[in-house]
Amino acid sequence: MIITVTMNPSLDHAYFIDHFSPGIVNRFQTPRKSIGGKGINAGRAASLSGSKVIISGFLGGDLGQIVGRDLKDENLFELMMLPVSEETRRAITVMHDGNVHTEIVESGPEVSDEQAFHLMNEIKEKLNKENASVITINGSVNSNNKHLYKDLLKYIRTEISNEIPVLMDISGEQLLSLLESDEYKPTFIKPNIHELSELIGKSIPSKEVAIHEMSHPLFNDIDYIMVSCGAEGALFKAGDVCYNVEIPTIDIINPTGSGDATVGGFAYALEQKYSIEDTLKYAMACGMSNAQHAEVGVINKHDVELFMNQIQVKQYKFEPTKAIG
Ligand code: ATP
Repeated sequence: MIITVTMNPSLDHAYFIDHFSPGIVNRFQTPRKSIGGKGINAGRAASLSGSKVIISGFLGGDLGQIVGRDLKDENLFELMMLPVSEETRRAITVMHDGNVHTEIVESGPEVSDEQAFHLMNEIKEKLNKENASVITINGSVNSNNKHLYKDLLKYIRTEISNEIPVLMDISGEQLLSLLESDEYKPTFIKPNIHELSELIGKSIPSKEVAIHEMSHPLFNDIDYIMVSCGAEGALFKAGDVCYNVEIPTIDIINPTGSGDATVGGFAYALEQKYSIEDTLKYAMACGMSNAQHAEVGVINKHDVELFMNQIQVKQYKFEPTKAIG
C-alpha cells in the first residue's frame, strides 16, 4: 500500500481562447475542470500501476466537497481527506495566443501545525492496522511554518516508522529547510532541473552541469536523488553512483503532472522491489505515458511497459579532475 499526502489540493479550471487581452472582458466557453494536487496525481499513477493507494490531505467548503466526490467517483483510491473550514482552492489556467499559459492560483486553506500533525496521526493509526510500503509527500503547503515538512518527516521517522521509504516531491523553502537539517533525511527527492537551479542558486544549462551539482552537500545522506529533465529524461544518484536516464522522443498531449506520475511510478517500483535500473525505467515511463494523456497523473500500463524497453539507464562516469600546476 502507498500513502500519498496532498496538503493543498485544488479544483483546476482550464479555459481556452485564441487571444487573451488583460484589462478588458474576455469571454470563454465552459472550462475543462479537473482535480489538482501532486500527491493525488502521483497516487493516480501508482494506482493505475496496480498498487493499493490511500490519498490523504485536506478538503474544505463547497469546492472541497466537489473534489472529494470526484475523487471517490474515480474509484482508484481510498480517501483520507480531513475537513478544514476554509474552502479548497481554485486554480485557473488560461491557454491563449498559441501556447501561452496564464495561471491564477489561490493560496488555499492555511494548514496549522496542529492540523498537519493530526493528519500524520491518522496515517499512524492506519498503519497500526495495515502495512504500507511507501509514503509520499507531494507539493506545496500553505503554512506559516517554513519547517513544517521537516517536522513532519521527523514525526514519521520517530512515531510511525524509521524504515518506510518517504518520497518528498516538494520545492522552495520547505525543501531547503528539509535539506539543511541534519536530523532526518527523506529517502527520495525529485527536484526538476529548474528547481535544482533555484535550490543551489546557480544556473544549470545542461544535464552535464546538473549531474555535478547532485553531489552538492545539501544532498548528503539522501538515498535517492532524481533530477527530472522533461523530454530529456532524468539524472539519478544513489549513494556514490550517478545515472543518466535517456528517453526516446515521443508525441505528447499534455506533460503537466509528468513529474507527479514519475514519483507515483517510482513508489510503485519500490513497492515491487524492482532493481534500480528498472525502477528508473518504470518511473520515467510513467512520466512519458502521462505526457500522452490530456488528464493529469493518468498512465497506460501497457504503454509504460513498452516505453521501458526504449529507455536507457547509463551509469555516469565522471572525468577525473585535472591536477592543477
Ligand atoms: P510536473 O511539475 O508537471 O509534474 P516536473 O517538472 O516535475 O513535472 P518533468 O521533468 O517535466 O517533471 O517530467 C518528469 C518526467 O516525465 C521526465 O523525466 C520524462 O520521463 C517525462 N516527460 C516529461 N515531459 C516529457 C516530454 N515532453 N516528452 C517525453 N517525456 C516527458
